[in-house]
Amino acid sequence: LSSSSSSFNEKKQALGKGITVSSDLVVDRAQECVITMTNGEDYLDMTSGIGVASTGHCHPTVVKAVQDQVAKMSHAQINMFYHTPLLTLMDRLRPYTAPLDTFCFNNSGSEAVESAVKLARHATKKQNIIVFNGGHHGRTIGAMALTGSKTMFSAGFGPLMSGVYYVDYPYSFRCPSAGFEGHAPDHCGKEVMRQLETLLQQRCHPDDTAAVLIEPVLGEGGYVPAPKGFFQALRTFCDHHNILMIADEVQTGFGRTGKMFAINHWDTVPDILVMAKGIASGYPLSGIVAKRALMDLQPPGSMGGTFVGNIVATAAAVATLDVFEQENVLQNVQERSEQVFKRLRCQADRLPFGPVDIRGLGLMIGLEFAGAPKGFAAQVVKHAREQEHLLLLTASIYETIRMIPPLVVDGATLDDAVDRLVRSIVHVAG
Ligand code: PMP
Repeated sequence: LSSSSSSFNEKKQALGKGITVSSDLVVDRAQECVITMTNGEDYLDMTSGIGVASTGHCHPTVVKAVQDQVAKMSHAQINMFYHTPLLTLMDRLRPYTAPLDTFCFNNSGSEAVESAVKLARHATKKQNIIVFNGGHHGRTIGAMALTGSKTMFSAGFGPLMSGVYYVDYPYSFRCPSAGFEGHAPDHCGKEVMRQLETLLQQRCHPDDTAAVLIEPVLGEGGYVPAPKGFFQALRTFCDHHNILMIADEVQTGFGRTGKMFAINHWDTVPDILVMAKGIASGYPLSGIVAKRALMDLQPPGSMGGTFVGNIVATAAAVATLDVFEQENVLQNVQERSEQVFKRLRCQADRLPFGPVDIRGLGLMIGLEFAGAPKGFAAQVVKHAREQEHLLLLTASIYETIRMIPPLVVDGATLDDAVDRLVRSIVHVAG
Protein backbone atom coordinates (compact mmCIF):
# COMPACT_ATOMS: atom_id res chain seq x y z
CA LEU A 1 0.00 0.00 0.00
CA SER A 2 1.35 3.40 -0.83
CA SER A 3 1.16 5.86 1.98
CA SER A 4 0.72 9.61 1.75
CA SER A 5 4.00 9.97 3.63
CA SER A 6 6.02 8.28 0.88
CA SER A 7 8.70 10.48 -0.62
CA PHE A 8 8.38 12.47 -3.83
CA ASN A 9 10.79 10.07 -5.52
CA GLU A 10 8.63 7.10 -4.51
CA LYS A 11 5.39 8.77 -5.53
CA LYS A 12 6.58 9.83 -8.96
CA GLN A 13 7.38 6.20 -9.84
CA ALA A 14 3.63 5.64 -10.19
CA LEU A 15 3.66 7.63 -13.44
CA GLY A 16 4.43 5.44 -16.45
CA LYS A 17 7.51 6.22 -18.51
CA GLY A 18 5.48 7.00 -21.65
CA ILE A 19 4.88 10.48 -20.30
CA THR A 20 8.17 12.36 -20.05
CA VAL A 21 8.31 15.01 -17.34
CA SER A 22 11.26 17.28 -18.11
CA SER A 23 11.91 18.45 -14.53
CA ASP A 24 11.24 17.51 -10.92
CA LEU A 25 9.36 20.76 -10.30
CA VAL A 26 5.94 20.44 -8.71
CA VAL A 27 3.60 23.28 -9.62
CA ASP A 28 1.33 24.82 -7.05
CA ARG A 29 -0.29 27.91 -8.59
CA ALA A 30 0.10 30.40 -11.39
CA GLN A 31 -0.83 33.94 -12.30
CA GLU A 32 -0.39 35.61 -15.69
CA CYS A 33 3.16 34.65 -16.82
CA VAL A 34 4.44 33.36 -13.48
CA ILE A 35 4.18 29.80 -12.16
CA THR A 36 4.87 29.21 -8.46
CA MET A 37 6.16 25.83 -7.40
CA THR A 38 5.28 24.02 -4.17
CA ASN A 39 8.67 25.12 -2.79
CA GLY A 40 7.49 28.72 -3.16
CA GLU A 41 9.82 29.60 -6.05
CA ASP A 42 8.54 31.59 -9.03
CA TYR A 43 9.29 30.77 -12.67
CA LEU A 44 8.68 32.94 -15.72
CA ASP A 45 6.53 30.89 -18.06
CA MET A 46 7.45 31.27 -21.71
CA THR A 47 5.68 28.03 -22.65
CA SER A 48 2.04 28.81 -21.80
CA GLY A 49 1.67 25.10 -21.05
CA ILE A 50 2.68 24.39 -24.68
CA GLY A 51 0.65 27.20 -26.17
CA VAL A 52 -2.50 26.82 -24.12
CA ALA A 53 -2.64 29.55 -21.44
CA SER A 54 -3.42 32.17 -24.08
CA THR A 55 -4.92 34.72 -21.69
CA GLY A 56 -2.21 34.04 -19.10
CA HIS A 57 -2.63 31.78 -16.11
CA CYS A 58 -5.81 32.32 -14.13
CA HIS A 59 -7.13 35.37 -15.93
CA PRO A 60 -9.85 36.73 -13.60
CA THR A 61 -12.45 36.79 -16.40
CA VAL A 62 -11.83 33.12 -17.20
CA VAL A 63 -11.66 32.12 -13.52
CA LYS A 64 -15.01 33.79 -12.82
CA ALA A 65 -16.71 32.20 -15.83
CA VAL A 66 -15.44 28.77 -14.81
CA GLN A 67 -16.37 29.22 -11.14
CA ASP A 68 -19.87 30.40 -12.05
CA GLN A 69 -20.35 27.49 -14.43
CA VAL A 70 -18.95 24.83 -12.08
CA ALA A 71 -21.37 25.97 -9.37
CA LYS A 72 -24.29 25.47 -11.77
CA MET A 73 -23.35 22.35 -13.74
CA SER A 74 -20.06 20.67 -14.66
CA HIS A 75 -21.08 18.06 -17.17
CA ALA A 76 -23.86 18.43 -19.70
CA GLN A 77 -23.88 15.58 -22.18
CA ILE A 78 -23.94 17.17 -25.60
CA ASN A 79 -25.62 14.15 -27.19
CA MET A 80 -28.56 14.78 -24.87
CA PHE A 81 -28.89 18.58 -24.60
CA TYR A 82 -27.73 21.84 -26.10
CA HIS A 83 -26.21 24.22 -23.59
CA THR A 84 -25.80 27.98 -23.58
CA PRO A 85 -21.96 28.15 -23.42
CA LEU A 86 -21.67 25.94 -26.52
CA LEU A 87 -24.34 27.85 -28.45
CA THR A 88 -22.75 31.16 -27.45
CA LEU A 89 -19.28 29.94 -28.36
CA MET A 90 -20.30 28.97 -31.90
CA ASP A 91 -22.05 32.31 -32.31
CA ARG A 92 -19.00 34.20 -31.11
CA LEU A 93 -16.52 32.17 -33.18
CA ARG A 94 -18.31 32.51 -36.50
CA PRO A 95 -17.18 36.07 -37.28
CA TYR A 96 -13.58 34.86 -36.89
CA THR A 97 -13.95 31.63 -38.87
CA ALA A 98 -16.20 32.96 -41.68
CA PRO A 99 -16.96 31.72 -44.28
CA LEU A 100 -16.52 28.49 -42.30
CA ASP A 101 -19.61 28.40 -40.13
CA THR A 102 -20.37 24.89 -38.87
CA PHE A 103 -18.60 23.27 -35.93
CA CYS A 104 -17.83 19.88 -34.50
CA PHE A 105 -16.12 19.56 -31.11
CA ASN A 106 -13.58 17.27 -29.44
CA ASN A 107 -11.38 17.27 -26.33
CA SER A 108 -7.80 17.40 -27.68
CA GLY A 109 -5.86 18.49 -30.72
CA SER A 110 -5.21 14.92 -31.83
CA GLU A 111 -8.89 14.02 -31.70
CA ALA A 112 -9.86 17.12 -33.67
CA VAL A 113 -7.25 16.28 -36.34
CA GLU A 114 -8.80 12.83 -36.57
CA SER A 115 -12.27 14.37 -36.88
CA ALA A 116 -10.98 16.46 -39.79
CA VAL A 117 -9.53 13.39 -41.49
CA LYS A 118 -12.74 11.42 -40.91
CA LEU A 119 -14.77 14.24 -42.43
CA ALA A 120 -12.42 14.59 -45.41
CA ARG A 121 -12.42 10.86 -46.12
CA HIS A 122 -16.15 10.43 -45.75
CA ALA A 123 -17.10 13.54 -47.69
CA THR A 124 -14.79 12.88 -50.64
CA LYS A 125 -15.05 9.07 -50.60
CA LYS A 126 -11.27 9.17 -51.08
CA GLN A 127 -8.65 8.00 -48.62
CA ASN A 128 -5.18 9.51 -49.05
CA ILE A 129 -3.98 12.35 -46.87
CA ILE A 130 -0.91 14.38 -47.81
CA VAL A 131 1.13 15.74 -44.90
CA PHE A 132 4.49 17.47 -44.44
CA ASN A 133 7.86 16.48 -43.00
CA GLY A 134 8.20 18.19 -39.64
CA GLY A 135 4.43 18.45 -39.15
CA HIS A 136 2.95 17.45 -35.81
CA HIS A 137 -0.67 16.40 -35.53
CA GLY A 138 -0.80 14.34 -32.35
CA ARG A 139 -0.19 11.05 -30.61
CA THR A 140 -3.40 9.05 -31.11
CA ILE A 141 -3.28 6.03 -33.36
CA GLY A 142 -4.44 7.97 -36.45
CA ALA A 143 -2.72 11.27 -35.70
CA MET A 144 0.69 9.70 -35.19
CA ALA A 145 0.65 8.42 -38.76
CA LEU A 146 0.18 12.03 -39.83
CA THR A 147 3.01 13.28 -37.62
CA GLY A 148 6.40 13.80 -39.20
CA SER A 149 8.13 15.86 -36.52
CA LYS A 150 9.94 13.04 -34.69
CA THR A 151 9.91 9.26 -35.13
CA MET A 152 9.77 9.04 -31.31
CA PHE A 153 5.99 9.57 -31.55
CA SER A 154 5.28 6.53 -33.73
CA ALA A 155 8.22 4.13 -33.43
CA GLY A 156 7.06 0.65 -32.53
CA PHE A 157 3.35 1.44 -32.71
CA GLY A 158 2.76 0.26 -36.28
CA PRO A 159 1.20 -0.68 -38.54
CA LEU A 160 0.26 2.97 -38.85
CA MET A 161 -2.84 4.29 -40.60
CA SER A 162 -2.36 3.79 -44.33
CA GLY A 163 -2.90 6.28 -47.12
CA VAL A 164 -0.58 8.94 -45.68
CA TYR A 165 1.97 10.57 -48.00
CA TYR A 166 4.71 13.03 -47.07
CA VAL A 167 6.33 15.97 -48.85
CA ASP A 168 8.73 18.58 -47.43
CA TYR A 169 7.44 21.56 -45.50
CA PRO A 170 8.50 24.86 -47.11
CA TYR A 171 11.30 25.32 -44.56
CA SER A 172 13.43 27.97 -46.17
CA PHE A 173 16.34 27.68 -43.69
CA ARG A 174 16.74 24.05 -44.74
CA CYS A 175 15.18 24.00 -48.18
CA PRO A 176 16.50 20.77 -49.74
CA SER A 177 17.11 22.06 -53.23
CA ALA A 178 18.16 25.57 -52.26
CA GLY A 179 20.90 23.98 -50.18
CA PHE A 180 21.31 24.26 -46.41
CA GLU A 181 20.77 27.79 -45.15
CA GLY A 182 19.03 28.37 -48.46
CA HIS A 183 16.81 31.13 -47.16
CA ALA A 184 15.15 31.37 -50.53
CA PRO A 185 11.51 31.33 -49.46
CA ASP A 186 10.09 31.78 -52.95
CA HIS A 187 12.21 29.04 -54.36
CA CYS A 188 11.44 26.82 -51.38
CA GLY A 189 7.67 27.26 -51.68
CA LYS A 190 7.82 26.47 -55.40
CA GLU A 191 9.97 23.41 -54.74
CA VAL A 192 7.34 22.03 -52.36
CA MET A 193 4.56 22.72 -54.88
CA ARG A 194 6.66 20.79 -57.43
CA GLN A 195 6.98 17.88 -54.97
CA LEU A 196 3.21 17.88 -54.52
CA GLU A 197 2.56 17.72 -58.27
CA THR A 198 5.11 14.90 -58.62
CA LEU A 199 3.52 13.00 -55.74
CA LEU A 200 0.13 13.12 -57.45
CA GLN A 201 1.67 11.77 -60.64
CA GLN A 202 3.82 9.05 -59.12
CA ARG A 203 2.18 7.67 -55.98
CA CYS A 204 -0.99 9.37 -54.87
CA HIS A 205 -3.54 9.98 -57.63
CA PRO A 206 -5.91 12.93 -57.06
CA ASP A 207 -8.86 10.52 -57.44
CA ASP A 208 -7.60 8.72 -54.34
CA THR A 209 -6.58 11.81 -52.39
CA ALA A 210 -8.97 13.31 -49.87
CA ALA A 211 -6.96 16.14 -48.34
CA VAL A 212 -3.75 18.00 -47.69
CA LEU A 213 -3.21 18.55 -43.94
CA ILE A 214 -0.82 21.34 -42.97
CA GLU A 215 0.16 23.73 -40.16
CA PRO A 216 0.37 27.39 -41.30
CA VAL A 217 3.47 27.67 -39.10
CA LEU A 218 5.31 24.44 -38.34
CA GLY A 219 4.91 24.10 -34.57
CA GLU A 220 6.63 21.14 -32.90
CA GLY A 221 8.67 20.99 -36.11
CA GLY A 222 10.49 24.21 -35.21
CA TYR A 223 8.35 27.34 -35.52
CA VAL A 224 8.80 27.70 -39.26
CA PRO A 225 6.31 29.99 -41.00
CA ALA A 226 5.44 28.98 -44.56
CA PRO A 227 6.69 31.52 -47.13
CA LYS A 228 4.57 34.37 -48.50
CA GLY A 229 2.22 33.20 -51.21
CA PHE A 230 2.55 29.52 -50.25
CA PHE A 231 -1.00 28.93 -49.06
CA GLN A 232 -2.49 30.76 -52.01
CA ALA A 233 -0.53 28.34 -54.25
CA LEU A 234 -1.61 25.37 -52.14
CA ARG A 235 -5.25 26.50 -52.34
CA THR A 236 -5.02 26.65 -56.14
CA PHE A 237 -3.39 23.20 -56.18
CA CYS A 238 -6.16 21.74 -53.99
CA ASP A 239 -8.94 23.32 -56.04
CA HIS A 240 -7.37 22.18 -59.30
CA HIS A 241 -7.12 18.56 -58.12
CA ASN A 242 -10.34 18.50 -56.14
CA ILE A 243 -8.54 17.85 -52.86
CA LEU A 244 -9.61 19.37 -49.53
CA MET A 245 -7.28 21.66 -47.63
CA ILE A 246 -7.14 21.15 -43.85
CA ALA A 247 -5.36 23.79 -41.78
CA ASP A 248 -4.16 22.43 -38.44
CA GLU A 249 -4.35 25.55 -36.30
CA VAL A 250 -4.10 23.66 -33.02
CA GLN A 251 -0.95 25.58 -32.10
CA THR A 252 -1.22 28.64 -34.40
CA GLY A 253 -4.89 29.45 -33.73
CA PHE A 254 -6.51 31.78 -31.25
CA GLY A 255 -4.25 34.76 -31.71
CA ARG A 256 -0.91 33.04 -31.32
CA THR A 257 0.41 34.59 -34.56
CA GLY A 258 -1.21 38.02 -34.15
CA LYS A 259 -4.30 37.17 -36.17
CA MET A 260 -7.12 35.04 -34.82
CA PHE A 261 -6.07 32.24 -37.18
CA ALA A 262 -2.67 32.09 -38.81
CA ILE A 263 -4.05 31.18 -42.22
CA ASN A 264 -5.47 34.74 -42.30
CA HIS A 265 -1.88 35.96 -42.89
CA TRP A 266 -2.09 34.30 -46.29
CA ASP A 267 -5.66 35.44 -47.07
CA THR A 268 -6.58 31.84 -47.70
CA VAL A 269 -9.64 29.88 -46.63
CA PRO A 270 -9.10 26.19 -45.86
CA ASP A 271 -11.93 23.68 -46.24
CA ILE A 272 -11.50 22.50 -42.67
CA LEU A 273 -9.81 24.37 -39.84
CA VAL A 274 -8.68 22.46 -36.73
CA MET A 275 -8.49 24.27 -33.39
CA ALA A 276 -7.54 23.38 -29.81
CA LYS A 277 -4.88 24.51 -27.28
CA GLY A 278 -5.48 28.27 -26.70
CA ILE A 279 -9.23 28.10 -27.37
CA ALA A 280 -10.24 27.83 -23.70
CA SER A 281 -7.22 29.21 -21.77
CA GLY A 282 -6.38 25.79 -20.35
CA TYR A 283 -9.57 23.75 -20.36
CA PRO A 284 -9.72 20.69 -22.63
CA LEU A 285 -11.61 21.70 -25.74
CA SER A 286 -10.93 21.33 -29.44
CA GLY A 287 -12.88 21.21 -32.64
CA ILE A 288 -13.12 21.64 -36.36
CA VAL A 289 -15.00 24.15 -38.45
CA ALA A 290 -16.05 23.91 -42.09
CA LYS A 291 -18.77 25.18 -44.39
CA ARG A 292 -22.15 23.65 -43.65
CA ALA A 293 -22.36 21.83 -47.01
CA LEU A 294 -19.18 19.93 -46.16
CA MET A 295 -19.75 19.41 -42.42
CA ASP A 296 -23.24 18.06 -43.02
CA LEU A 297 -21.72 15.17 -44.94
CA GLN A 298 -20.69 13.69 -41.57
CA PRO A 299 -22.91 10.70 -40.95
CA PRO A 300 -25.15 11.45 -37.93
CA GLY A 301 -23.73 9.98 -34.73
CA SER A 302 -20.25 9.42 -36.17
CA MET A 303 -18.68 12.26 -34.16
CA GLY A 304 -18.84 13.42 -30.55
CA GLY A 305 -18.11 11.53 -27.36
CA THR A 306 -18.75 11.50 -23.62
CA PHE A 307 -16.93 14.71 -22.72
CA VAL A 308 -17.28 16.55 -26.01
CA GLY A 309 -18.34 20.20 -25.76
CA ASN A 310 -17.91 20.18 -21.99
CA ILE A 311 -19.98 22.96 -20.45
CA VAL A 312 -17.14 24.29 -18.24
CA ALA A 313 -14.58 24.22 -21.06
CA THR A 314 -16.94 26.01 -23.44
CA ALA A 315 -17.73 28.62 -20.77
CA ALA A 316 -13.95 29.15 -20.46
CA ALA A 317 -13.70 29.50 -24.24
CA VAL A 318 -16.41 32.18 -24.30
CA ALA A 319 -14.58 34.01 -21.49
CA THR A 320 -11.34 33.69 -23.48
CA LEU A 321 -12.99 35.48 -26.40
CA ASP A 322 -14.24 38.15 -23.95
CA VAL A 323 -10.65 38.75 -22.85
CA PHE A 324 -9.44 38.87 -26.47
CA GLU A 325 -12.00 41.53 -27.31
CA GLN A 326 -11.90 43.55 -24.08
CA GLU A 327 -8.11 43.65 -23.84
CA ASN A 328 -7.27 43.85 -27.53
CA VAL A 329 -5.10 40.76 -27.25
CA LEU A 330 -4.39 40.48 -30.98
CA GLN A 331 -2.86 43.95 -31.00
CA ASN A 332 -0.74 43.05 -27.98
CA VAL A 333 0.55 39.99 -29.82
CA GLN A 334 1.49 42.09 -32.85
CA GLU A 335 3.27 44.72 -30.74
CA ARG A 336 5.06 42.25 -28.47
CA SER A 337 6.08 40.21 -31.51
CA GLU A 338 7.75 43.21 -33.13
CA GLN A 339 9.46 43.96 -29.83
CA VAL A 340 10.77 40.46 -29.20
CA PHE A 341 12.14 39.88 -32.70
CA LYS A 342 13.83 43.30 -32.66
CA ARG A 343 15.46 42.58 -29.29
CA LEU A 344 16.61 39.13 -30.38
CA ARG A 345 17.99 40.38 -33.69
CA CYS A 346 19.84 43.20 -31.90
CA GLN A 347 21.64 40.55 -29.87
CA ALA A 348 22.21 38.18 -32.81
CA ASP A 349 25.97 38.77 -32.85
CA ARG A 350 26.19 37.47 -29.26
CA LEU A 351 24.59 34.18 -30.28
CA PRO A 352 26.96 31.24 -30.83
CA PHE A 353 26.85 28.33 -33.28
CA GLY A 354 25.67 30.36 -36.23
CA PRO A 355 24.08 30.80 -38.53
CA VAL A 356 21.22 31.31 -36.09
CA ASP A 357 17.77 31.47 -37.62
CA ILE A 358 15.61 33.79 -35.50
CA ARG A 359 12.13 33.19 -36.84
CA GLY A 360 8.46 32.79 -36.16
CA LEU A 361 5.22 34.64 -36.40
CA GLY A 362 3.45 36.61 -33.69
CA LEU A 363 4.37 35.07 -30.35
CA MET A 364 5.65 31.81 -31.82
CA ILE A 365 9.33 32.58 -31.38
CA GLY A 366 11.99 30.13 -32.56
CA LEU A 367 15.80 30.14 -32.63
CA GLU A 368 17.63 27.46 -34.58
CA PHE A 369 21.38 27.10 -34.10
CA ALA A 370 22.66 25.52 -37.29
CA GLY A 371 26.16 24.83 -36.02
CA ALA A 372 25.34 23.71 -32.48
CA PRO A 373 26.26 20.26 -31.16
CA LYS A 374 23.45 17.76 -30.54
CA GLY A 375 21.69 18.50 -27.26
CA PHE A 376 22.62 22.19 -27.13
CA ALA A 377 19.01 23.44 -27.24
CA ALA A 378 17.97 21.03 -24.48
CA GLN A 379 20.91 22.15 -22.34
CA VAL A 380 19.93 25.79 -22.77
CA VAL A 381 16.35 25.01 -21.75
CA LYS A 382 17.63 23.15 -18.68
CA HIS A 383 20.05 25.91 -17.72
CA ALA A 384 17.38 28.59 -18.21
CA ARG A 385 15.01 26.66 -15.95
CA GLU A 386 17.52 25.89 -13.24
CA GLN A 387 19.59 29.08 -13.15
CA GLU A 388 17.29 31.76 -14.59
CA HIS A 389 13.90 30.39 -13.52
CA LEU A 390 12.77 30.79 -17.12
CA LEU A 391 10.57 28.10 -18.68
CA LEU A 392 11.24 27.38 -22.36
CA LEU A 393 10.82 24.47 -24.78
CA THR A 394 12.86 22.87 -27.51
CA ALA A 395 11.38 21.98 -30.91
CA SER A 396 12.16 19.77 -33.88
CA ILE A 397 15.02 17.36 -34.54
CA TYR A 398 17.35 20.33 -35.03
CA GLU A 399 18.85 22.50 -32.27
CA THR A 400 15.88 24.80 -31.85
CA ILE A 401 14.58 26.69 -28.82
CA ARG A 402 11.08 28.09 -28.75
CA MET A 403 9.32 30.68 -26.65
CA ILE A 404 5.52 30.71 -26.42
CA PRO A 405 4.57 33.42 -23.93
CA PRO A 406 0.99 33.98 -22.85
CA LEU A 407 -0.58 36.37 -25.37
CA VAL A 408 -1.22 38.98 -22.69
CA VAL A 409 2.48 39.25 -21.77
CA ASP A 410 3.67 42.82 -21.20
CA GLY A 411 6.73 44.45 -22.73
CA ALA A 412 8.92 44.49 -19.62
CA THR A 413 8.27 40.79 -18.88
CA LEU A 414 9.11 39.84 -22.44
CA ASP A 415 12.36 41.86 -22.44
CA ASP A 416 13.28 40.19 -19.17
CA ALA A 417 12.59 36.75 -20.70
CA VAL A 418 14.73 37.50 -23.76
CA ASP A 419 17.61 38.66 -21.54
CA ARG A 420 17.40 35.49 -19.42
CA LEU A 421 17.28 33.41 -22.62
CA VAL A 422 20.31 35.11 -24.18
CA ARG A 423 22.28 34.78 -20.92
CA SER A 424 21.47 31.06 -20.86
CA ILE A 425 22.53 30.56 -24.48
CA VAL A 426 25.81 32.39 -23.96
CA HIS A 427 26.50 30.52 -20.70
CA VAL A 428 25.86 27.04 -22.14
CA ALA A 429 27.91 27.79 -25.26
CA GLY A 430 30.74 28.60 -22.84
N1 PMP B 1 -1.65 19.62 -33.98
C1 PMP B 1 -0.69 20.51 -33.65
C2 PMP B 1 -0.28 21.55 -34.65
C3 PMP B 1 -0.08 20.46 -32.40
O1 PMP B 1 0.86 21.34 -32.08
C4 PMP B 1 -0.50 19.47 -31.47
C5 PMP B 1 0.11 19.37 -30.08
N2 PMP B 1 1.35 19.86 -29.89
C6 PMP B 1 -1.50 18.58 -31.86
C7 PMP B 1 -2.07 18.68 -33.11
C8 PMP B 1 -2.00 17.53 -30.91
O2 PMP B 1 -2.72 18.13 -29.90
P1 PMP B 1 -3.00 17.37 -28.49
O3 PMP B 1 -1.66 17.24 -27.84
O4 PMP B 1 -3.94 18.29 -27.78
O5 PMP B 1 -3.60 16.07 -28.82
